[in-house]
Amino acid sequence: MNRREFLKTGAIGLGGLVGIKGKAYPCETKEFYGMLVDTTLCIGCRSCEKACSEVNHLPAPNLGDDKPRQTSIDAFTVVNKFKIDNQEIFVKKQCMHCNQPACASACLVKAMFKTKEGPVIWRGNKCLGCRYCMIACPFDIPKFEYNSLNPKIRKCEFCFERLKKGEKPGCVDACPMEALIFGTRRELIEIAKERIYKNPDKYVHHIYGEREAGGCGWLYLASVPFEKLGFPENVGETPYPEYTKEFLYSVALIFLLWPSFLIGLHKALKKEDEGD
Ligand code: SF4
Ligand code: SF4
Repeated sequence: MNRREFLKTGAIGLGGLVGIKGKAYPCETKEFYGMLVDTTLCIGCRSCEKACSEVNHLPAPNLGDDKPRQTSIDAFTVVNKFKIDNQEIFVKKQCMHCNQPACASACLVKAMFKTKEGPVIWRGNKCLGCRYCMIACPFDIPKFEYNSLNPKIRKCEFCFERLKKGEKPGCVDACPMEALIFGTRRELIEIAKERIYKNPDKYVHHIYGEREAGGCGWLYLASVPFEKLGFPENVGETPYPEYTKEFLYSVALIFLLWPSFLIGLHKALKKEDEGD
């Protein structure tokens, strides 16, 4: 059973249990900040990874090791090499900062949160540690500090603290090739379209992230189909909250009812005790 089927099944099961239908998750129409990654310009120097580690106080990446990697609690972004038709293509991976994030819609307490500026951030003071965000994310991004006594969910937050101060994310300035362009999502889509239009033989005619999972803040250009570059093929174009909303509202209602249920149970048990 895949993630989407799991969420749908959970929604149907819990929706049936409490007898309600979910409401639509609020659709964000604001103009978010985003990033355009032109993989045709990336040389795989991994300066962006190094800068990310410095900004986020993470261990420095081992630049000598070019094995394919996933993001982790120690690496919020990774650049992987793909060999296709004798060509080396490098792809930076991190949180996609989805327009309507599955992680945030699955989070019962709004610890995972889509800011009005665009970054999707984790708020530790609200987190229950349930890890629904990890199950829900179609890009397998949030990671959990299993070995910590005070575990956190860790992922790229699009340098939200820097954005608030008017600075760009750490990775952008570090890129010597301008393979990363920071801007509003609308501007970036225009730039990407223009590049494809002016160089129709250089790029596949697809901006990954424009529609995937309902649209993402991070957008990609490439010279080969994205499925060859490790991008998930089964993400679809439906915003994930469409799948998670019933699950969310059902579970939220259970959370609301839970204290009353416990009080009722306590009273019933007390009566039984008194009757003994
Ligand atoms: S990529 Fe995953 S963690 Fe990032 S915003 Fe989208 S759903 Fe959330
Ligand atoms: S810094 Fe730029 S060129 Fe270097 S790996 Fe990152 S995206 Fe590619």
